[in-house]
Amino acid sequence: MSVYHFPAPLEREHLLSCLMRYAISQGRKEYVKVAKQVSTNVSKVDCNSYWRTIYRDALIQYLPKYHSQIAFDNTLLKVYSSFTQCDFSTLLTQQLDQPHKLQLKYANLEQVHHGWKWCPECVIEDEETYGVAYWHCDHQFALKKRCNQHGTLLISECQHCNYSFNSILQGAPPLSSCPKCGESFEHQNREDSGEDLWVEDYANRILQDDFEFNKPEVQAYFKAQYGFNELKRQWTLAERKHITYQQDLFGKWLDTLDLSNHLVPLSNNKPYSQVSAFNVSSYTFKNHNLAPMIHLLFKRYWLERLC
Ligand SMILES: [Zn+2]
Ligand SMILES: [Zn+2]
Repeated sequence: MSVYHFPAPLEREHLLSCLMRYAISQGRKEYVKVAKQVSTNVSKVDCNSYWRTIYRDALIQYLPKYHSQIAFDNTLLKVYSSFTQCDFSTLLTQQLDQPHKLQLKYANLEQVHHGWKWCPECVIEDEETYGVAYWHCDHQFALKKRCNQHGTLLISECQHCNYSFNSILQGAPPLSSCPKCGESFEHQNREDSGEDLWVEDYANRILQDDFEFNKPEVQAYFKAQYGFNELKRQWTLAERKHITYQQDLFGKWLDTLDLSNHLVPLSNNKPYSQVSAFNVSSYTFKNHNLAPMIHLLFKRYWLERLC
């Protein structure tokens, strides 16, 4: 469905933030109804997706000649395309045609923030520059914890009442105080660990399209360690030993890292090495589309072993 005066994206704005601005501008009370004129898929408008039907519905509000640029600049589809090694324009054509839900396996593991994220300094600047606050696209990438422009930690919920923006239709990012409890947002800060800096650096490289995805090389490394090249139905005892040994080495290494800001805590404080996402033989022999953090950790391990 096409509507009049659908707003053009502002600098680095998330595509769904345009829908939010459109809906809110038509009157606060009616905003869900208004959003439904653009898309009937407004019930799940969280920040944790690369693409959904609602993305297509928002994108087709613009002239076709802008589709590719807007999808590239104002959604995280490029992140998905770099981790699935699917050419961006092919992927976009597929998504416009059949906008099924794109999924990366174990993505929940890296969703340490549950709501849409914002930078308090960007909110002030955007209000000054454009007269409105809006949701930035890059800030929504699960691996991003800081704003590039200001270096500030991104916020995703109220420290007092835990209010968060699970749906973008809840409105623009707040200027200074929580829309629910009214308490002001304090600037959070923390001393970044080596792991924090490492993840942030990779998050930026991925967003800038400057990321080399070398899963086959990582897989080849493990195959060489195992001494065999393919997945079998049944392993010999010796082969099983190789697999267990490599798993133990990787698991021990993984558990030395401080990933508390990047992976959701496990129940009973279980170590991350016990999560199936970090099963070395699955990583080596299967080609699932996995969440970025899983790949980054395997890649880091591989790079450290090569040195
Ligand atoms: Zn900022
Ligand atoms: Zn609050």
